[in-house]
Amino acid sequence: AGSLYVVATPIGNLDDLSPRAARVLGEVALIAAEDTRHSGRLLRHLGLSRPMLSLHEHNEAARVDTLDARLAAGEDIALVSDAGTPLISDPGFVLVRELRARGRRIVPLPGPCALVAALSAAGLPTDRFLFQGFLPAKGGTRRARLEALAAREETLVFYESPHRVRDTLADLDSVLGERRVVLARELTKTFETFLDGSAQELIARMEADPDQARGEFVVMVAGAARREDVEQSAVEADVLLRALLA
Ligand code: SAM
Repeated sequence: AGSLYVVATPIGNLDDLSPRAARVLGEVALIAAEDTRHSGRLLRHLGLSRPMLSLHEHNEAARVDTLDARLAAGEDIALVSDAGTPLISDPGFVLVRELRARGRRIVPLPGPCALVAALSAAGLPTDRFLFQGFLPAKGGTRRARLEALAAREETLVFYESPHRVRDTLADLDSVLGERRVVLARELTKTFETFLDGSAQELIARMEADPDQARGEFVVMVAGAARREDVEQSAVEADVLLRALLA
């Protein structure tokens, strides 16, 4: 039987496509793509032409049997999304879950992923982080989600669209208060920018320079003060107090 290759594609800079990804995309019998026109442009850039099939959130479940039959017939298939790693805030989960349940071979081809790229350059703790995808669009639901995260000690990571980023910063400020926020904008593209500060400072930066609100964003927020840090500073205060008393 054939294999399903889950292929990461660039999040901006086309040079980030790995040689292995290019080879596999050129060899498979079929490419299942979130948007065949979008991925068709990537293939043309690579000088490749393969049969394509759309696979998005609305038809994903209905495609499982078709794709499974082609794997059973010995064909290899690649799964790609518009940008970055499939399944990460992108289609593919249902397909991979169903094919794995049927015992198919599923091969990841690692590569670009906005959240990993953002974390790798933000300077926030990366030993533990909590990726939350997109926050809910509606204000009340979004703030409730943030409230549920307020006590988490992990670095919080969100995806965000340009027309909501200011509202999200305002909610971060009102729900989580004074915390370090890092915004990674337009990663791997010409206007790649990292903004670093409190949510209020970042809102002020966007008001001063509206270009800072354009493009694609990863929003990262320092976690709540860690218990071991809080305990450590209590111990230090204790030592200091004793020294002063002596
Ligand atoms: N599967 C993708 C990945 O692996 O990162 C994510 C797809 S999700 C639909 C799109 C979101 O990812 C954007 O709204 C933004 O939050 C983030 N994103 C994608 N490309 C980005 C880039 N070049 N710079 C910053 N954020 C990006």
